Amino acid sequence: MYADVLIEYSAKAIDQTFTYIIPDRLKEDLKIGMKVLVPFGNKIINGFVTNIKNNYADTYELKEINDIVDKYFCLNEEMMELGKYLQAKTLCTKIAAYQTMLPSSLKVKEQKSNYSKYLTYIEINKDIKEIDEYIENNKRSKKQVEILNTLKEGKALKSSFSQSSVKTLLEKELIKIINVQIYRLNNHEAQNIKIEFSEDQEKALETIDLNSDKTYLLHGITGSGKTEVYIELIKRVVKSGKKAILLVPEISLTAQIVNKFYDRFGDDVAIFHSGLSAGEKYDEYLKILREEVHIVIGTRSAIFTPITKLGLIIIDEEHSETYKQDTTPRYHARDMAEFRKNYNHIPLILGSATPSLETMARALKGVYTYIPMNHRVGTSILPTVQIIDMSEELKKRNMIFSDTLKNKIRDRLIKKEQVILLLNRRGYSTVISCKSCGYTYKCPHCDITLTYHKTTNNLRCHYCGYTVFKSEECPECKEKALYDYGLGTEKLEQELSKLFPEARIVRMDADTTKNKGSHEDIINKFKDHEYDILLGTQMISKGLDFPLVTLVGVINADATLNIPDFRSGERTFSLLSQVAGRAGRSNLLGEVILQTFNPDSFTLKCVQEQDYMKLYNYEMKNRHKLDYPPYYYLTSIKVASKEYELASKEITKIKNYLEKKLSNKTIILGPTTANPFRINNIYRFQIILKYKIESNLMNTLKELDELYMTNNKVNIEIDNNPLQV
Ligand code: ADP
Ligand code: ZN
Repeated sequence: MYADVLIEYSAKAIDQTFTYIIPDRLKEDLKIGMKVLVPFGNKIINGFVTNIKNNYADTYELKEINDIVDKYFCLNEEMMELGKYLQAKTLCTKIAAYQTMLPSSLKVKEQKSNYSKYLTYIEINKDIKEIDEYIENNKRSKKQVEILNTLKEGKALKSSFSQSSVKTLLEKELIKIINVQIYRLNNHEAQNIKIEFSEDQEKALETIDLNSDKTYLLHGITGSGKTEVYIELIKRVVKSGKKAILLVPEISLTAQIVNKFYDRFGDDVAIFHSGLSAGEKYDEYLKILREEVHIVIGTRSAIFTPITKLGLIIIDEEHSETYKQDTTPRYHARDMAEFRKNYNHIPLILGSATPSLETMARALKGVYTYIPMNHRVGTSILPTVQIIDMSEELKKRNMIFSDTLKNKIRDRLIKKEQVILLLNRRGYSTVISCKSCGYTYKCPHCDITLTYHKTTNNLRCHYCGYTVFKSEECPECKEKALYDYGLGTEKLEQELSKLFPEARIVRMDADTTKNKGSHEDIINKFKDHEYDILLGTQMISKGLDFPLVTLVGVINADATLNIPDFRSGERTFSLLSQVAGRAGRSNLLGEVILQTFNPDSFTLKCVQEQDYMKLYNYEMKNRHKLDYPPYYYLTSIKVASKEYELASKEITKIKNYLEKKLSNKTIILGPTTANPFRINNIYRFQIILKYKIESNLMNTLKELDELYMTNNKVNIEIDNNPLQV
């Protein structure tokens, strides 16, 4: 017998299968979808079995597979098919597709290692008569007697006894050691929580047919109780013996939702996100492989968990851009979910308060079943939103906080209620420049100004990580005239504690959440009211549910509005509506303050009126006028090279090639410089394609990709349905 093995080799040009002989000793265990070790050249490398066959026609001399990496681990047929789909959709390498689907501890490239965690127990090794005899004859060895008496009741943790006595008993072979594998994340007990559903919730539950293979859009305003709908649906799925996947957009959200699920389902839940240790990931994966859990909750990549008997997929906050991976393979979790939905003939639920325009358009066309939830649960109502014109405040020398916001924060502190402040920019200040000569710190490798981080007194490039210490005087003119302007979360925190020294403030951004468990820690402490004010980047905007929060302030509502991108209106609306939705989620009334220099912005008006349809109609008109999604599909093609001239020449060649290959209905924009133009000393140019139907597209892109496969001076990067152009 022979196996086709996809080998792990970073070069794109060798992304193909090679045939190996299956030695007799492996015949029984080897299956398609397993990782194996194979000889390649003069090395032993990892590979992935994609096919097993009886015949081999060629006369070429074949080598044998060395070993199976992990005989318990094997991608099933659905996963193998999903891998093909992922590859076709994103044009990534075959091996990259399968690697994306495995957690890091099980990636093909990892050498064999044992992540299993064990607890060491001891138990009786002789029959009771012998044990009792020993006890009788050794009454004075009190500790030994105690151990034996305990073990007569059953096994016990080795660490809970005197180790010297344990050693003696082991030597006498009266007891023996057993290792029991444990899971790191476990021991949650399900509680019986009874919920009286709201009318909206009842309606949603009635509409969703778990035996169908429909896609539903659950369009529920913030606080309408979407999570309870998910829980009830999953309960029904589990009851029928099937399993479910729930995707959430960010790690910061998983803690809260996962705890809710632990409360309802106990240990029937496996979780996946990048904040888990390799060992935890391994354990969670095992729970699934061993069919021990019915529910998987996780971020984007959880869509690849090889859960069997799938009965339902839910994507919470479906509009979230975190569902698209921004490195190769550039897949969207929604597409992967659609594939699994069709494969398993099961329903898919997309939930959001602010659906993406694409999804809403499909729902209005009837491609998706539309389920609105327009009321908050209980007595809670949507917060009021006030827009503050910051140019007026500047006249009063209010640079960061308007009088209104200041007063309202003070009021909440007195009332012992909580506040959330959003500033979508981390670091201390955005720019440091010299008042004397105008010098600004820029990254020497990228077209980006450096961001000042005060706690570490350095400036960092948020693209490539380049770091430089801030000097006392200007590096250019040597004057002591360096001045910082612009505002980041770090500076906001400092200014806030100056204004409200009595307030307990916590900051949540990429810098304060580097350590494992820090997300949960901040969120749990804020929930327990150990802090009065939570400030942070967009990380804090989604899904969080804190009953004591009655004020949400957006320091700079323009941050996302002014980005030149066709989605910036949609993005701003959804960010601000989401963060506004954190206010007033209990019986306490909520208020939202938006600070802006564009008080007349249509988008902000829509946020103020909390009118999704108004924004939808406005944006759709614009998209129609400018040939943007959802009216047109987009593909971006980037060329990157260390050599400016070369990159520029190649992108022009590509344009000519595309013009020849594609229909004249397809719009080819560019070439232009990409944004940013230079990252890490690599120059980048891009072309944007806009099309409705382009039958030649995937073939052409594939040809293009293959043309540059072996070119080590120029890289090409193709992104179907890019989030930003
Ligand atoms: P959404 O996800 O739509 O923003 P959540 O599901 O987080 O809303 O619900 C908001 C709050 O209301 C949560 O604290 C939740 O526990 C509570 N809740 C949801 N449904 C009900 C219900 N039927 N009865 C009582 N409380 C509910
Ligand atoms: Zn840089």
